[in-house]
Amino acid sequence: MRIDLRSDTVTKPSPGMIKAMMTASVGDDVYKEDPTVNALEDRVADMFGKSKALFFPSGSMANQAAIKLHTNPGDQLICDKYAHVYNYEGGGASFNSGVSCKLLEGHRGMFTADQVLAAINPPDFYHSPLTRLVAVENTTNKGGGACWDFFEIKKIGELCQSNNLGYHLDGARIWNALIAKDETANQYGHMFDSISVCFSKGLGSPVGSILIGDDDFMKDAIRIRKILGGGMRQVGYLAAAANFALDHNLERLKDDHEKAKEIGILLSDLPFIKTVEAVETNIVIFELNASVSEIDFMTALQNSNIHAIGMGGGKLRMVTHLDYTDAMHDHLLKVLEALKF
Ligand SMILES: *Cc1c(COP(=O)(O)O)cnc(C)c1O
Repeated sequence: MRIDLRSDTVTKPSPGMIKAMMTASVGDDVYKEDPTVNALEDRVADMFGKSKALFFPSGSMANQAAIKLHTNPGDQLICDKYAHVYNYEGGGASFNSGVSCKLLEGHRGMFTADQVLAAINPPDFYHSPLTRLVAVENTTNKGGGACWDFFEIKKIGELCQSNNLGYHLDGARIWNALIAKDETANQYGHMFDSISVCFSKGLGSPVGSILIGDDDFMKDAIRIRKILGGGMRQVGYLAAAANFALDHNLERLKDDHEKAKEIGILLSDLPFIKTVEAVETNIVIFELNASVSEIDFMTALQNSNIHAIGMGGGKLRMVTHLDYTDAMHDHLLKVLEALKF
């Protein structure tokens, strides 16, 4: 039994999802003639209380399109030093949009309105890049699945409004935050100018993300998507998977959260573990004692066919997901408990 906890992206479509995909009605989405994609875009726009949504092949491309739509070359965006848009999109912000990132020293990938205020360059001081955009990530990836305090999100939103800045949410795992904190998509739509969401993380779709915004913001989104090479044809097969995921895999995220919590509790009791970050959703980040080598630990896990991932800086990560079953969970807890270093 292979237990793959490297990421929640390792899931494979369930038989029900495959059936939904195989029976989807499709058309050429570059002509906007794919009924399944169009219906999914309407559904998701509606969930978030926005007027428009556009399907993308990846979360990175959806984020990159949003950055492009919000900025001009030479501008600057404000984000956390852990931000996916800064760390894990191949330098896309500078490559695609010619913008720089002002990095904030946040806590687990989250920052405060006061930090944002201090980071805004005065617009008439032409020596500095023009601050145009604030990007927030919820849940935070590198921050270990932590959820923002909605009150802070709101305060930053008000700041963006009064300073004429765009406000983007990288919501690749917003679903986990909605379930963990009992929040609604609509309340996020209300706050942000643009939101990207992924179907290929916790929701278990094979491919697919969506960018959401109002008509005026989204007017050029389809052009940018085309430029980035993201115009796809009979992509309703993928939209059908996303649609199925929204119907069947949203509420069950709480099972992933429950299992992650149990892993966190067990890890924090093990003598060779130094710290476990607070588990809020489906990501567990932990550190070994200095006396235990990361390689030895990972090898011991691999010998039991358990796969975690290193995050750099001595941090290790396990992520629970749809294909991580109760039987795997029981087995993992037993293996962890029996480890000796
Ligand atoms: C996974 C992820 C993305 C998008 O990743 P893709 O692999 O390009 O779909 C964006 N932001 C965050 C926070 C993520 O976790």
